[in-house]
Amino acid sequence: LADTYDIVVAGGGIAGLTAGLHAARLGRRTLVLTGGAPGGLLLSIETIEGLPGFPEGAPGYDFCPALQEQAAQAGAEFSFAELTGLEQREEAWQLATPEGKLAARAVVVATGAQLKELGVPGEERLRGKGVSHCATCDAPLLRGRHVAVVGGGDSALQESLTLAGSVERVTILHRGPELSAQATYRERVLGNPKIEVRTGTLVEEILGDGAVAAVRTRDVASGETGQLDAGGVFVYIGLRPSSELLAGRLELDATGHVPVDAWMRTELPGLFAAGIVRSDSSGQAAGAAGDGTAAAFAAHRYLTDGVWPEQALARAAASALPNGGSDG
Ligand SMILES: Cc1cc2nc3c(=O)[nH]c(=O)nc-3n(C[C@H](O)[C@H](O)[C@H](O)COP(=O)(O)OP(=O)(O)OC[C@H]3O[C@@H](n4cnc5c(N)ncnc54)[C@H](O)[C@@H]3O)c2cc1C
Repeated sequence: LADTYDIVVAGGGIAGLTAGLHAARLGRRTLVLTGGAPGGLLLSIETIEGLPGFPEGAPGYDFCPALQEQAAQAGAEFSFAELTGLEQREEAWQLATPEGKLAARAVVVATGAQLKELGVPGEERLRGKGVSHCATCDAPLLRGRHVAVVGGGDSALQESLTLAGSVERVTILHRGPELSAQATYRERVLGNPKIEVRTGTLVEEILGDGAVAAVRTRDVASGETGQLDAGGVFVYIGLRPSSELLAGRLELDATGHVPVDAWMRTELPGLFAAGIVRSDSSGQAAGAAGDGTAAAFAAHRYLTDGVWPEQALARAAASALPNGGSDG
């Protein structure tokens, strides 16, 4: 790694890769710290849906490497290292990685999010032994089996459809009274004879010795407990933003996301946040790509004129004084 970059992007998901692509196209010396295999959450999605220009969807394992290649061709540099620390100094941000320290005049934090855990007995013990966050990875191992999917949002339903392509039967267990997923997923799930939906159902324990064998459930309304035989449990109950690095440096919102303005600027000069780590994101891949684009262009502009919101206001006020106001 070189010592100093114009722009360092932390995060190798679609937001970070797109920020890297545009920052490099703008001629900025750019490094993307991917924190592991590039692609983020999308890498393991069998068919990414809702991407503009892909009417049939795009396989994550094709789409993500193509995105990285495009950014690399534009001139972005890459490291698999993760960002482990950042500190604002006079001239530049000082960044720490396990591979060493570096400096950047602007930083785009695009660290995304992680799937939440259920936090019930048996989950930790049976992780990788039937408890999974990856339908595409584990569906082939569960051919002919019955599996449970926990959750009622987009991810839960989309991954149930993926699983239904391989396994014998899928039961969706959702604690709420209604599925919250987009209409397109709800319609396909409800029309799929291999998928059963149980709303108002809590998962209280995952059972099994060496591997998942069943889940213990509780009916929210009646309080009645039950047991559902299942060879796998796929947990999609929401995402937790990967914003720990920024906690204490700036104010996060109530859900731990990073507040930004329309240019993806945080409250700290030179620091941008893009993708699903930021507040009020759509949660969609296309939105995250848009954020990465916006952050790269805004960072380029900041490196050109050095202006950050408060400074912009101060400059406007200063330049208004000699003329005695706009109508003077
Ligand atoms: C099961 C599932 C299915 C989905 N299907 C779709 C779909 O079909 N269509 C759609 O539009 N959206 C879909 N989404 C949503 C989509 O995954 C997100 O919108 C998108 O991945 C957000 O991209 P991102 O770059 O903001 O974050 P992420 O994809 O989370 O990427 C963040 C990256 O940052 C890295 N990172 C974390 N911390 C650090 C650090 N300190 N330093 C460096 N790197 C770090 C992570 O390793 C990761 O690679 C789905 C989500 C899930 C969970």
